[in-house]
This record gives sequence, structure tokens and C-alpha cells, in this order.
Amino acid sequence: MNSPLRTHPALAPRVTSLKPSATVEMSERIRQSRAAGRRILGLSSGDPALPTDPRIIAAAEKAMRDGDTHYSTPAGQPALREAIAAHEKRRSGAVYDPTDVLVTPGGKFALLAALMGTIGPGDEVLVPEPGWVSYGPCVRLCGGTPVALPMLDQVDALAIAAKITPATRAIIINSPVNPTGRILPAEELATVFEFAQKHDLWVIFDQVYADLSYDQPVAFVQGSEAGRARTLVVDSLSKTFGMTGWRLGYLATPPGAAKALVKFLQHSIYCVPPFIQAAGVAAFSLYDELVPRYRTTFRARLERASKALSKVEGIDCTMSDATFYLFPKVAGDDAAIAKYWLDTIDVAALPGSAFGPAGAGHLRLSLTLSDSDLDEALARIAKAGIAPSAQR
Ligand code: PMP
Repeated sequence: MNSPLRTHPALAPRVTSLKPSATVEMSERIRQSRAAGRRILGLSSGDPALPTDPRIIAAAEKAMRDGDTHYSTPAGQPALREAIAAHEKRRSGAVYDPTDVLVTPGGKFALLAALMGTIGPGDEVLVPEPGWVSYGPCVRLCGGTPVALPMLDQVDALAIAAKITPATRAIIINSPVNPTGRILPAEELATVFEFAQKHDLWVIFDQVYADLSYDQPVAFVQGSEAGRARTLVVDSLSKTFGMTGWRLGYLATPPGAAKALVKFLQHSIYCVPPFIQAAGVAAFSLYDELVPRYRTTFRARLERASKALSKVEGIDCTMSDATFYLFPKVAGDDAAIAKYWLDTIDVAALPGSAFGPAGAGHLRLSLTLSDSDLDEALARIAKAGIAPSAQR
């Protein structure tokens, strides 16, 4: 809301009506508590907190020294688009011409570009719930209306059918899922895709955690030719390579669509800095060396923490299929438990309800702290329990 005491002209409802991001707000609260001298153990950040490999940093530095400090091509540098197309082929089997790949400043901007290019005022977009906090706001920024699709344990045909209207234009699907850590099996993606075909919808497929999966393979909508033809793939180097601050991601598009979509990049960001893109090329070249290591680290933490948490009365925690998140069920009000932990044991977790009402009764725990800090957080949780009365 615009305050009646404001000294500046009115801001647009487009931004004033947006809800602030729960994850960013929690990060701010942690920052303030730390500034006040408290030692907060953070289980709330979406940042994998992996140091960027020095060779990736060196590639950016070299590019800068070599003069790659100017405007570059808005769609992205050929070498990076080729590396992305090769990565897609290896992982999902989808064959993209590099010209069908657009380089973006992070996955979040790839999502915004996808929505900018496909929806307009009055259009509805199905968004997963519980789901990542930026889907709804990005739909609104494009003039559309987000419609929550409940999918805590699965995406099912009945739920989708209940939400589709003549105004539905797109469905956002995220797998592996933030916040639940679940991989959507191929059958569920097939159900989504059938609806998309029947109602001529775009599928916006957010796969930013696809490289951090454990036993179960990730299924990809764009894996089939028909799937690729109506899917806009959102991905990023943030989680895979520990490169959140570099702001580097991409949008993979059906043949020919990039030509129109790139105009949004031309008129907004112009381009991702070319030296950042050089770092991206270096990152993909190091994939086989780095990513298995990161996967092993997160998997071990997830297994250790899920076992420890399951022993706490009132917490039911299963191992995640992927990501660095756990999404345990808690026998109580999730927001009250998160507040209790932050206030009394200096442990920051996010309430599941921050990801939509379907996430209520859960907490999202992000295992991005060091092993010793994680042990300490688990010990504090074991001691405090989930309610003040449980404190010994
Ligand atoms: N999608 C999901 C599901 C996410 O959790 C995030 C980051 N938290 C993103 C996209 C975007 O990440 P980035 O912009 O850093 O690539």
C-alpha cells in the first residue's frame, strides 16, 4: 500500500501489491540477529553455500583482462549456449540447437522471461503448492493470475482438472521440488503434459535442482519431441556449481521461439556480462569433476539429518530424492515452531506454510551449513523439541 505520508509519487500496484519473499525476509532477520551478536545456525537459505571453484573464478578474471567487458549478444555467447545444449542433451536427452537457448541472469530471470513471453493480463497460470515463493509474484508481474495447484505428495489429474479454466495459459512445474526435495516421476509429468496438450498450455519446467538428485533419475518434460515443443525450460548454474551470486541461468525454448523471446532480454538486461558467461563455460567443462562431489556432500548431510530429526518427538522426516532440502512433517503449527527455534535456540528454519497453505505442518530445512554447524543445529533441535513444553 502507498502510505498517505509518502513524499514521492505513487508507486505502481504491480510492485506495491507484491508479497515480500519469505526466504529473503528470513535472511534479513538472520542478518540482523547476527549483527546483534547472536550465533544463528541457518537452515533457511536457498544458497548451497559452496565456494565457487577457483578455476571458474579464473576464467571470469581472464575474460575481463582480455577485454570481455562490453555489451555482448543478448541471447548469450555461442560457447555458453553450445555448452548448455550439450548439457541438456546428456542429461534430459533433449536436442536443442544452441540458438534455442537464451542465457539469463539466473534461473529467476529465465522464469520471468518465460512468463513475459507467454502470458498477459487476464491469463491464469497454475503454480505448484507448496512451491517456490517467486512463482506467484512473477506471474503477477506479467499481469497474470497465479492459481495454486496442490501437489504436496503428487500431481494428480483430478487436482489439475479442478484448476484449469478457459483462461489458463501455462502450468509451472518444478522438479526436483523446492521445498519438498521430491522428484516428480515420469508418470506424473506425463499427466501434466496430457493436460497441457489437451488445453494447449505452455509448460514452464523449472529444473534448477536437477543436478542434485540421488538414487532416482530425474524425469524431464522436454525429453520427448512433443514435450520439447511446448516447454520452456528454466535452469541455472546457481545450485549446481555454487554460483548463486554470479547470476547465471538459461531458458531453453522450442525451435524458433527464442527469436521473439530474446526481445525481452534486449529491452531489459541487454545481456548477461560476457565475463560471467566465460565463467559458465568453465563451470560446464568442470561438471564431471565438481558436481559428483557436491552431490555426495549434500546426500550425506541429508541422510544424517533426516535420521537424527526422525528421533525427535513430533518430527517425521524422510530422506529427500534430490536438492539440499528436507521437508519434515511436524506435529504442530509450523510457523510457531520456526519462531520458537529462532527465538530460543538460534536455529533458523522456514515454515512450510511460507511455500503456500499446502505446505503447512512442515518445515523446510536447508542443509547448507558446515558439517559441524549442522551437528550443532541437530543437537539444539533434539534438546529443544518442537514446542516449549518439550524443552528439557
Ligand atoms: N527455481 C527454484 C525452485 C529455486 O529454488 C530457485 C532459487 N531459490 C530458482 C529457481 C532461481 O535461482 P537462481 O535465480 O539463483 O538461478
